Amino acid sequence: MPESQGQSDRVLIVGAGPAGLTIAACLAEAGLEATVLEAEPALPTNLRASTFHPPTLDMLDRFGATQKLLEQGLIAPTFQYRTRSEGILGEFDFGELRDVTTWPFRLQCEQYKLNFALLDYIDAAPSVDVRFDAAVESAMQDEDGVTVRLANGETVRGGWLVGADGARSVVREALGIPFEGFTWPEAFLVISTPFPFEEHFKNLCLVNYFAEAEDWFFLLRAPDFWRVMVPTKDGDDEADIFAPDSVQARLCQVLPRDEPYEVAHTTLYRVHQRVAPRYREGRGFLAGDAAHINNPLGGMGMNGGIHDAFNLGEKLVQVIAGGAAPVLLDDYEAERRPVALDYVNRITIANKRNLETNDPAEQAAFRAMLRETQADPAKRRRYLLQASMLASLGIGVSVA
Ligand SMILES: Cc1cc2nc3c(=O)[nH]c(=O)nc-3n(C[C@H](O)[C@H](O)[C@H](O)COP(=O)(O)OP(=O)(O)OC[C@H]3O[C@@H](n4cnc5c(N)ncnc54)[C@H](O)[C@@H]3O)c2cc1C
Repeated sequence: MPESQGQSDRVLIVGAGPAGLTIAACLAEAGLEATVLEAEPALPTNLRASTFHPPTLDMLDRFGATQKLLEQGLIAPTFQYRTRSEGILGEFDFGELRDVTTWPFRLQCEQYKLNFALLDYIDAAPSVDVRFDAAVESAMQDEDGVTVRLANGETVRGGWLVGADGARSVVREALGIPFEGFTWPEAFLVISTPFPFEEHFKNLCLVNYFAEAEDWFFLLRAPDFWRVMVPTKDGDDEADIFAPDSVQARLCQVLPRDEPYEVAHTTLYRVHQRVAPRYREGRGFLAGDAAHINNPLGGMGMNGGIHDAFNLGEKLVQVIAGGAAPVLLDDYEAERRPVALDYVNRITIANKRNLETNDPAEQAAFRAMLRETQADPAKRRRYLLQASMLASLGIGVSVA
């Protein structure tokens, strides 16, 4: 621990997801004291995000995490927009961005594998401890620090508090910060299957969005399975959604088949577009899903949360160990909130609209946009910089 760090500078991080563990890794790298408080008894291995964008891989490299993800993931240089009847409407290749990123592709890999890689890095650092079975129930702050109360009645004291505790953040509530935005009426169903779709759709790549109006879906290859994501209808009953016959029917909308599909997992989740109006309240901060959530079309939620975590983690290091004035921490919200509000929200809402619209004029406009973007190198580059999230960090934009 650096000489200058007193007990009052310990950072309490609530949540051991990608955002919380990334901040902990930044602090561990600098030898600063932090405690991660995680409600679960161990790192969860449930299936959630599966896409790592190029700048995220660039950032995570310094913790050895990128190499571990590359060893366990699938490299997806291209992504496609399609319909079943028209085939490929547009295909884009991140390989064109090799001058601005070391990893010019999406890496398809389950997010829990990142959490394990980060935990390995943190475990090797003496200044950071990760506590499981440590659900935070409340938090308060005073002039000198923060105090959180755990479900077991214990209190933990620190100098700074980071709420990286996901969409239903207890820390956000404790800081009195609302979660503005809306919830989509339909939930999204993710079905994982080993069925070889690549043998049935010509030139299918690993990331494919099908613009089929209300029957839209995406086909995403993860290391173990294909993931098929379909929207449910507003008001659909949950038991009906999960009924084996209805899961089979949804898969047959993707590709009709007489034999039943093998189904490995099904996950249903509510989708929101919400951004907290403030990311900081005194000594408390929000990062990742606690600060912003969006629909998964574009794979930007987890990636944006990791970008938050690097931004905040590096600023905390500069303030705690580098002698920077605490006012620097205000820049975190100023730099990261507009990305969630204007960039990720805008792109993910447009992505959803482009797939689901049944308005012929909008459908034609989407096809025209894809044709023009593919044909024009400058437009194509701008599009790729946006889709890869490099543009959200100001990377490559001056040459676009
Ligand atoms: C089915 C699904 C598919 C998704 N697909 C994608 C995708 O393709 N691309 C993408 O970018 N994003 C995707 N996302 C979103 C992505 O999973 C999240 O953005 C990401 O997990 C956010 O990371 P986080 O660290 O902010 O929060 P989380 O991963 O939610 O981690 C929060 C942690 O805090 C813990 N916690 C919660 N409350 C407390 C408490 N009171 N005390 C202590 N600990 C607490 C939780 O147990 C959890 O471990 C998907 C999400 C889902 C559900």
